[in-house]
Amino acid sequence: MKETLKILVIDDDEVDRMAVRLALMKAGVYMDLCEVSNGNHAFSALQNTNFDCVFLDDRLPDQDSFTLFHKLRSSEIKVPLVILTTQGNEQNAVELLQAGATDYLIKENLKSENLAKILRNAIRLYRAEIKADLVYQQLKESHEQLINKNEELKKQQQQIQLQNLKLLEASRLKSQFLATISHELRTPMNAIIGFSQILLRPKFGQLSNQQADMVERILNNGKHLLMLLNEVLDFSKLETGRLELKPEIFDLGKIVNNTVTEIRSLAEAKKLALRVEIDLENSLTFNDPIRVRQILINLLSNAVKFTDNGSICLEIREITKNRLAITIQDTGIGISPQDFQHIFEAFRQVDQGISRKYPGTGLGLAIINSLVQMMGGEIFLESQLGVGSVFKIELPRQITLLTNTNNGNSYHLNLGSDDGVYSSHQNLPYLPYQAQKISLGYPYLKL
Ligand code: ADP
Repeated sequence: MKETLKILVIDDDEVDRMAVRLALMKAGVYMDLCEVSNGNHAFSALQNTNFDCVFLDDRLPDQDSFTLFHKLRSSEIKVPLVILTTQGNEQNAVELLQAGATDYLIKENLKSENLAKILRNAIRLYRAEIKADLVYQQLKESHEQLINKNEELKKQQQQIQLQNLKLLEASRLKSQFLATISHELRTPMNAIIGFSQILLRPKFGQLSNQQADMVERILNNGKHLLMLLNEVLDFSKLETGRLELKPEIFDLGKIVNNTVTEIRSLAEAKKLALRVEIDLENSLTFNDPIRVRQILINLLSNAVKFTDNGSICLEIREITKNRLAITIQDTGIGISPQDFQHIFEAFRQVDQGISRKYPGTGLGLAIINSLVQMMGGEIFLESQLGVGSVFKIELPRQITLLTNTNNGNSYHLNLGSDDGVYSSHQNLPYLPYQAQKISLGYPYLKL
């Protein structure tokens, strides 16, 4: 060891002290040696100086070595202690070792090599213990910190849970409010529509052209309002999981043709070509025809609404025997990729400004998305600003109802036998622009 060690020798025997000193010198230990002859002097020396090692005679003249040892302990004086004992008195040293002394040495065996080795080991051991104590202390502190953090997190989690419950309750009340209002408004709206239709019938008296024009406007606005109310009602039902599919077997081709007939006048009013391609070997399907029609009407009206020039194409085809694809393509304003996800969220529109050009509630696609999910299908969107959009819906030919799990309104997403094999959109005929595929999650809270 090249460092200078502070060593204390406690022994009342001058000869023994000298023997230790000489042995240490012979071992070549660099040291700052201090020698005392009794326990009291030793205690005050240890109180004033930090020693690297202490050699303690196990028989002191003024007090028992154990007494000194315990005094040091209770004063929190920590130092490696090597007990010096005599042949035949090892028992005393062993007990001191058990109490915490570092090592012992029999005076008769006091050789420089032994002493140097014991000194080195005692110091090493002591330093390792100090390090371990430090690490333990640090670990204890970080453990306590972690416990505190954990408590804090628990409190925060409880608060979040509470907030969450409040939010769920607020959401439930909002849905209930929407459902009640839209339901209540539908009754007078139906009366307005019904009476306007009656007024337009010739047998109830001839209206002047101006009057007929006004009643027609009341009728059209009433229908439009009713459609908006139905959207709000559907949305609130979906949010609370109360919307049910009523599946039956029907002819998809027929539904498509009827729907297109309804929309055609809108397309013609904007001078848009509306093409329909039905390529089905078997046009029977098991689904909810009203909801399938609703999907078609919504996508077709959007296509007409957001297209000023060009054409709209509706294509129905079989992907496999058990899976059908409905594709609606337009040459309208298009949607930028960063809006793809958003437009399927409730009340979200690309243009949310008050002075926006295109009317609507922003609920149509959110409702379609949920309906398609309930039917076990998927929606794909490809679009480019200024070029047009393609909405593709894949549906199983036959949807499957799940047995009552959630108010009796849950539907199993029947993917059919070979539905896992999705031949991706790369195989589709339309790819005039960069294709983007999104697969959407169920956007509603189920209460
Ligand atoms: P709404 O049509 O009532 O605004 P939707 O949920 O049907 O609500 O559509 C949401 C938004 O998605 C629309 O406001 C529009 O910004 C965009 N969008 C939907 N269909 C098209 C389309 N064919 N072309 C361009 N944008 C569309």
